[in-house]
Amino acid sequence: MASPAADDTGPFINGEYRSAAETFDIENPSTGETIATVGIADEETVDDAIETAREAQREWAALDASERGRVLRRVGERLTDSVDELAELESLEMGRPIGQSNGIITDGLGYFEYYGGLCDKIQGETIPVDGNRLDYTQKEPLGVSAQIIPWNAAVMLGIRGIVPALAAGNAVVAKPSSEAPLSVLKFAELATEAGIPEGLFNVVPGPGSRTGATLTEDPRIDEITFTGSVTGGTMVGKAAMENVIPVSLELGGKSPSIVFEDADLDAAIEDTLKVFFNSGQVCFATTRVFVHEEIYDEFTSRLAAATESMSIGPGIDGHDIGPVISADALDDIEEYVSTAKADGARVLTGGSVVERNGNYFEPTLIDSVDDDAPISCEEVFGPVITLYEFSDETEVIRRANDTEYGLYAAVWTDTLDRGHRVANGLEAGTVAINEFPATFPQAPFGGYKKSGLGREKGIQAIDHYTQLKNVVVSLGESDGTVFDK
Ligand code: NAD
Repeated sequence: MASPAADDTGPFINGEYRSAAETFDIENPSTGETIATVGIADEETVDDAIETAREAQREWAALDASERGRVLRRVGERLTDSVDELAELESLEMGRPIGQSNGIITDGLGYFEYYGGLCDKIQGETIPVDGNRLDYTQKEPLGVSAQIIPWNAAVMLGIRGIVPALAAGNAVVAKPSSEAPLSVLKFAELATEAGIPEGLFNVVPGPGSRTGATLTEDPRIDEITFTGSVTGGTMVGKAAMENVIPVSLELGGKSPSIVFEDADLDAAIEDTLKVFFNSGQVCFATTRVFVHEEIYDEFTSRLAAATESMSIGPGIDGHDIGPVISADALDDIEEYVSTAKADGARVLTGGSVVERNGNYFEPTLIDSVDDDAPISCEEVFGPVITLYEFSDETEVIRRANDTEYGLYAAVWTDTLDRGHRVANGLEAGTVAINEFPATFPQAPFGGYKKSGLGREKGIQAIDHYTQLKNVVVSLGESDGTVFDK
């Protein structure tokens, strides 16, 4: 397999890297240094990737389902040897603390085990229609899936869509984010070396508005899985409708966490700190924390003390908080915080850009902000938590739901019926009680409202990556004989 030098990479098609006429640079957000040059997949290259995928898909879909499952499970096992390499690459290109990268990629390999096991359980049903007939359904692959991947957890989010798509008998053309393409390209190379048939998993790097649009608008694409912003998702959703193909949209979030007075405070504080995972650049992070008035002062002062003990620095060196993805993202975060301050917010800790090379913002806790302030309503996508005091269950459910997003929510209480009651009232695709974060390959994941469309993960993803055929068989005229059974 032709493999380019680490600092020179490009489209990966049919098990090989391709050269490209145009390139873009990848900057290490921890230092601001350029670490790689990546070739852009132009129209001709995207065309080649789609044709290659179509051809590979036919052979893949013709395999016994149990054999497809064995291949996926074996690839997942072999990739365990590559976790360190992939984690290092991801931490370099997007800044995440290295221990977190190891954990997230190891978790991602769980999808190979789960969907590898599901391959030969993708089955239809028989339906008791009228007359002397046999009616049954079967789930068939769609064809070629376009996977549009963001930068904030590129390998894991790539795996989340690519593995169930393959399990259902499809082929993939993936477009990574221009901020973090290196880890996805390396993942495709390693997965192909580990046994994914050549041509089944192809990667076309390049800008979303160009390479991404060329891919998603192509009439030979049979399905689109998009993970990213609402703006990008809306455009891709329109492209899917132009070609009348299924689309899954996994978009942003502004998730609430509700801490009742009877909560286990140690656990709630420990898990609230996990909002700073990935420098807060997590779609489902519970960045709006509602705390009952009886425990508000204790909760906020303990959380502030714990936040102040976090170390800040290059993710690759193992600090608690790495940089955010870019200088532009850093400016946006600073703007949200300074606007909140100007409007009377109290900064409990943090609140400033860290003066050093790279894009660092202090882990920040803010309160005394209105529920409808920009920092309360919009994705800050940085290490910033806003805290709100509440007194009443009905009131807090209403305030938690008062957002255009609905991806995730957490509830902290020692009262069983209250936990279920509040979960029932929250408008979110996932509600976690007494734990954050908690997501699994086996459980469906997706958004209410503007957080998305469709569900990833679980058996539900297989339904998304297949189309249902109904077959009705005439069994001829019955002569009316009734058999003894
Ligand atoms: P983004 O929308 O800018 O880009 C996501 C991907 O879409 C990139 O690969 C980009 O190049 C591509 N893209 C953009 N416009 C396109 C177009 N018109 N056609 C085709 N492709 C296009 O998002 P981002 O900044 O990379 O990611 C951060 C966002 O992703 C946040 O809003 C975050 O909440 C969200 N996110 C959601 C989930 C989830 O599971 N719900 C997971 C991770 C991130």
